Amino acid sequence: MSGKSIIDMVCPVPFTTSNTVLLGHGSGGKLSNDLVRDVFLPAFGNPELAQLNDQAVVRVGQSRIAITTDSFVIRPLFFRGGDIGSLAVHGTVNDLAVGGALPLFLTAAFIIEEGLPMDVLRRVAQSMQQAAKAAGVRIVAGDTKVVERGKGDGIFINTTGIGLVPEDLNLSADRAQPGDVILLSGSIGEHGIAILAEREGLEFESALQSDSAPLHELCAAILSASTSVRCMRDLTRGGLSSAMNEIAAQSNVGIELNETAIPVRDEVRGACEMLGLDPLYVANEGKLIAIVPPDVAHSVLRAMRANPRGENAQIVGRVTGSLPGLVTMKTPLGTSRIVDMLAGDQLPRIC
Ligand code: MG
Repeated sequence: MSGKSIIDMVCPVPFTTSNTVLLGHGSGGKLSNDLVRDVFLPAFGNPELAQLNDQAVVRVGQSRIAITTDSFVIRPLFFRGGDIGSLAVHGTVNDLAVGGALPLFLTAAFIIEEGLPMDVLRRVAQSMQQAAKAAGVRIVAGDTKVVERGKGDGIFINTTGIGLVPEDLNLSADRAQPGDVILLSGSIGEHGIAILAEREGLEFESALQSDSAPLHELCAAILSASTSVRCMRDLTRGGLSSAMNEIAAQSNVGIELNETAIPVRDEVRGACEMLGLDPLYVANEGKLIAIVPPDVAHSVLRAMRANPRGENAQIVGRVTGSLPGLVTMKTPLGTSRIVDMLAGDQLPRIC
């Protein structure tokens, strides 16, 4: 039969080369990946960076140390369910935790716009301290820079984190294998929609809030349930779709999601329908996926559901040997659609 394969039907990648940096280069989607591949990897290339995980694991003496860094430029600074301070702690703690590390120490660098009320800075610092305490980490170094009025947007924060990785643990986005099962820790899209609602003044019947939360305990529960977890990833910018596409590419496998199994709250679904967004691409700050071999999927799922951050965990898909590099999704109608990575942002500056 000479029918077209699903690969032939993929839309061509949009033309994304540009001589200037675009907002979409910060999206966590295709443009961000281009920037890393075309600018940063050639400049900094080394084996740890080449793994392209959310954290690098390096050996220092007898210890295996995970290190990660992240900058936060979210607008507005305060939102339902969190603020730029707690987010800056959760984001970095989670990038350590999904690498199997016990998060230990953070640094915090502040770029502040002249004129920021001191009270705002105090609230942000206090929120960071509370979040750090809850995540079991200490903020042990920092930096402050102030830029002229109009040259910043209130406050930007960078956090770097380090943690310890057990000797025999190797989680990496290039380890997914055909037959593996994909577990999602809960409903998606709440952070992005909560931020959008805050910006646009949207009201929901029930108070939708960001899911911003530390995931170190959920990660520890997953890793104690099985020693054969392949990888974990938190679903931040670019949402479930970006994480799945990156793993499909790095492991050179196909990924098949099951749309009816993916939990989405009614408020998020409604807002997405109204605004023409797809929850698969909307950011989360307290959700993760774990990829595990089929024989341990149910015990890991039980462990996830026993943790408050994973009580709505679901099996949402599987890894396949066909269509390597491609993410597809079975729809409620029984058809299959391609879940591509977006070039840029649905919603800029959400983290
Ligand atoms: Mg991450």
